[in-house]
Amino acid sequence: MKYLSKSPIETRKIASTLIKKLTTKRNSQTVVIALEGELGAGKTTFVKGVARELGIKKNITSPTFVIMKKLEINNLKFESLFHIDAYRLKDHRGLISLGIKEILADPKNIVLIEWSDRVKKILPKKHIKIHLDHINTDERKIEIFE
Ligand code: ADP
Ligand code: MG
Repeated sequence: MKYLSKSPIETRKIASTLIKKLTTKRNSQTVVIALEGELGAGKTTFVKGVARELGIKKNITSPTFVIMKKLEINNLKFESLFHIDAYRLKDHRGLISLGIKEILADPKNIVLIEWSDRVKKILPKKHIKIHLDHINTDERKIEIFE
């Protein structure tokens, strides 16, 4: 699916539409959303839309200085959202020590990874890839590969 978003609000709406669709599906596997795109492309904005749709009230910030953040979800389908920013990681090994394998093994988790191209090795085969491109000040191309 390809979108042209004209504002951060629109990007968040695209994210919530994806989550609505996911929550109607039954899945036995952990939902992993891999976000690719340069700085300012809208990855964190997209995560905000996901979090809001899942009822998370806490403000989502870019976890640049913390590689991983865990947020609790009051939702029948998911228990926790993990927000990962792999920007400062050289490769996937930095995530192994943070327990990524156990996190990915629990289908009650939804895992969103910014700069996922740096940690490709830990991505399960079945993941949703989101590619965001900066077009101009307020426009972003968003491609979702499911
Ligand atoms: P990233 O996490 O990819 O570095 P952020 O989501 O933190 O990107 O930042 C995106 C920036 O671009 C924000 O300042 C946001 O307000 C701005 N912006 C402008 N237009 C859009 C859009 N259509 N979608 C998402 N962000 C946008
Ligand atoms: Mg970010």
